[in-house]
Amino acid sequence: MSGLLLERVRVRAEGIEVITTRKLTKQYGDLIAVNNIDLDLAEGDVFGFIGPNGSGKTTTMRMIATLLNPTHGEAYVCGKSIYTDPAEIRRMVGYMPDFFGVYDDMTVIEYLEFFAATYRIDAHARRGICEEKLELVDMSFKRDAMVNQLSRGQTQRIGLARVLLHEPQVLLLDEPASGLDPRARIEIRTLLKRLGELKKTVVVSSHILPELADVCTRVGMIEKGHLIIDGNVEEVMRRARERLVLHVKVKAGRGSGEWSGETDAAATDRAAGLIEQSDLVESVTIDSGTILATLVNDVMDYTELPTILIERGFRIEMFREEDVNLETAFMHLTKGLVQ
Ligand code: ADP
Ligand code: MG
Repeated sequence: MSGLLLERVRVRAEGIEVITTRKLTKQYGDLIAVNNIDLDLAEGDVFGFIGPNGSGKTTTMRMIATLLNPTHGEAYVCGKSIYTDPAEIRRMVGYMPDFFGVYDDMTVIEYLEFFAATYRIDAHARRGICEEKLELVDMSFKRDAMVNQLSRGQTQRIGLARVLLHEPQVLLLDEPASGLDPRARIEIRTLLKRLGELKKTVVVSSHILPELADVCTRVGMIEKGHLIIDGNVEEVMRRARERLVLHVKVKAGRGSGEWSGETDAAATDRAAGLIEQSDLVESVTIDSGTILATLVNDVMDYTELPTILIERGFRIEMFREEDVNLETAFMHLTKGLVQ
């Protein structure tokens, strides 16, 4: 497993690089909060930045947003350097911090118009743009509500509308789903998908592991400042597995051969025995009629197994890999990692 920690999985998305970091590092005294992070994100990427509290997510995002200087290393947004072009980067980036204050005594629309003015959006265009962003985050129905009377989920959505006002190409969203109820989380996920479809590049952080699996095109896992793995979701899951486990269900074959009249249970036992003889297989158990075959480490191609079963006349009712979710993937990948 330790080799995997060093092995970087990188499945490059087609398209233009929008965010690039090279050896991006932030040190506070003896603490290396962000340690030599290399990232390459393209247009339309929705990147789930996953790691426990204190692992360096906020620090990384603030450096990319030009709000914090690295100790060393590079970061570029659309080819612009955080050192030489911070003003241009701020125009291209919408950064939503994990906590942001909202102002009392303002309606939703007034709040957005206030920020539109600070972004120097033309006075004539302002109202229209604010209405459009409210629509995008499904909050038009609250346009005249007071901002301090919104639920946390609604506040997050208004926060998102606010960072979209200046049409940023890049969105850095720091834990937008934290503290939300399940329904509001789903709404945020729907919004993230929509942003990816609009060809934005989105970095969204979370310390809750499975939360982002189905909306992200890519995930990166960070622990103690190290980016342990990044790639597309399937790839990360696959790499994270210690060993593949296959779930197989067979039925007795039809016909009049040697095994005619065999029960399904007997066929299952016999199929399990056959599978166990394969060099690809480490161990086999049967659980409620399903054969669980654990493959030898690093075996990824197991096509010969169904072939053997079919040749022997079994009918295959199910043949699939065991699911691995982001949570187990993360646990596998971070096991034993010490800084
Ligand atoms: P995350 O967002 O993943 O929870 P952070 O990026 O906020 O993590 O923090 C990473 C590490 O850097 C933590 O150990 C945190 O305590 C430390 N840290 C963050 N900001 C500062 C600071 N201004 N001074 C000293 N240490 C800091
Ligand atoms: Mg944070």
